[in-house]
Parts: sequence; structure tokens; C-alpha cells
Amino acid sequence: MESVFDPYAAKALLEWQVELGATDAIADVPVDRYGLADKAPKAKAAPVTQAAQPPAARDPVAVAKAAAKSAGSLAELRAVMEAFELCELKKGARQLVFADGTPEARVMIIGEAPGRDEDREGRPFVGRAGQLLDRMLDAIGLSRANSVYITNVLPWRPPQNRDPKPDEIGMMVPFLERHVALAQPEVLVLMGNISCQAVLGKRGITRLRGKWDQAMTLPVMPMFHPAYLLRQPQMKRQAWADLLELNAKLEGG
Ligand code: URA
Repeated sequence: MESVFDPYAAKALLEWQVELGATDAIADVPVDRYGLADKAPKAKAAPVTQAAQPPAARDPVAVAKAAAKSAGSLAELRAVMEAFELCELKKGARQLVFADGTPEARVMIIGEAPGRDEDREGRPFVGRAGQLLDRMLDAIGLSRANSVYITNVLPWRPPQNRDPKPDEIGMMVPFLERHVALAQPEVLVLMGNISCQAVLGKRGITRLRGKWDQAMTLPVMPMFHPAYLLRQPQMKRQAWADLLELNAKLEGG
């Protein structure tokens, strides 16, 4: 008879048990471990490699740092991110959303995380917020096709578009840092609080927006997230001022 669990469900159940603290596999019949003590052959202590450890026992940030460092190109970075198994968001997402636009661009935009449309298409900012972003960029003569590179802090869609958790952000930041280092933009634009948190280590977009900051050795411009502008269109005035500030920086060299 076929098992009721497919291998992925079985693996997820096992990981869940490990997270709850299970350390031993047990059988249906109790085992008298005192009786076994003398008979059992002494097992040699095997060195525990990182790959052999259960996911819960591995430090996701350390694994992410090592993986990100190993990537020598954007294609390799994408591949190591595809292979990263320690972020829970991956399980619920359809696919990795890596980046869009022109990798050689002077401007790199960092958003929050894919939503439903991005999860389906595999490209960042393709839904309503993305369409507004394209119009905003167009207003200062920028476009994905020629002059902007776009990514997100999180490459997988959070369930029900909930806010990413601090540990999820923490373990994906090493990939983001490597992404910026490989793309080598001249300026970063941070869309909303989550990307400010990830890149600048601070929140409070109303206070941060429109003022140049510095991170990852680059000038950084925080802006209102386009999704917020869709909900609060009266804030587009400030967004326009921030775009002009960005344009002035690009024109000033
Ligand atoms: N919002 C984001 O921050 N990123 C996307 O890719 C889409 C919506």
C-alpha cells in the first residue's frame, strides 16, 4: 500500500518534530535501554558536519553568509539562493523571485518581498505597486529596461503577504549584501520600512524618507513604498520630491 505521506510532507513533519525538541527516533515497542547498555557495540563518535545536522540545529545566518560569499556572479548568487533551505518562506512560495531590470544600472531598488503577482511571475514589482513604481521611475526618465535594477529583501512570498519576521530578514540579508556587491550600483533606493530595517538597521520611513543615508558603502535614499502610496495617494507629493532628489544625485554624478 502506498504511504499517506509524500516525501516532502514526511520531511516537513520530521523537521517540525526536531523544532519541538525531539532528539531520538522511537519505535512502537518500548526499549529497555539499561538492558541494552552492555550488549550494544560502542558507537564511534562521528564528526557532525553541517550538512548532516538537522535544519533546526544549523545557524541560518552562518549558512547564508557562507553561501552568499561563494557566489562570484549574479547567476551563481541566484543558484545558491535557490539551494538555500533554511528559510520557512520557501516552502509556501511558488518560486524564488530574484531580480528584474538592468543589472549594470546605476540605481538599485530594494523592495520588501514578493506578493501574489510576483510569486506567480517570478519577477519583483509586477503587480499594482510595481506598475506605480514603473510610472514613478518613468517620470524621471528611468526604466527597468535601461537604468534600474530591482530586487527585494525577501525572495519568497510570505504567506498571506504578512510582514517578514526579523529572523527571516536576518538570514536573507547576507544574500542581499552580496547581491548589491555583485551588481555594483551607484545608489540604493529603499522602498518602505522593511528594506530600511534590512539595509540601514532602522525603521520609521516617514522620518527617514527623502534624506540621503549611507549603507553597504553606498548612498541610500529611503522612500515610501509604492503599495503605501496606493493606499495614501496624498503622500505622492513627498514621493515626487524624493524622486527629484534621486534624479539630482544621478545628474550631479
Ligand atoms: N512589494 C514589494 O516590496 N516587492 C515586490 O516585489 C512587490 C510588492
